[in-house]
Amino acid sequence: MTDIFDNKILCKKCDSKMQKAKIVKNGFLFRVMICPKCNEKIIHPVDEQEYHKFINLKNKEFKVKMRLVGNSYAVSIPKEIVLFMREQEKIMDNMVRLCFEDFGRLSLNFEELKKQR
Ligand SMILES: [Zn+2]
Repeated sequence: MTDIFDNKILCKKCDSKMQKAKIVKNGFLFRVMICPKCNEKIIHPVDEQEYHKFINLKNKEFKVKMRLVGNSYAVSIPKEIVLFMREQEKIMDNMVRLCFEDFGRLSLNFEELKKQR
């Protein structure tokens, strides 16, 4: 698959050849083209789109049911979250860490299982 960033891209401000780089914003990895001269940046459109998806999903509340399975309760994680994380390659394993954070609050942690892409 060809990527648009494999093309030669000239800075719209100073006409210099832009270079590939990666930046992290809010824990999100973006592929960017940076102008070595004036620092002008172009964010990869696919990454920008993914980021907007992430912002929309983030802090969104889902009502999920608890089911009794044997001696445990099972909660379903909405498909759109799992699909998004899969796309981001953030779930490499189906094991997660679960923590009773506070009264009325449970957290699921995928972070430790994450591999850098
Ligand atoms: Zn420039």
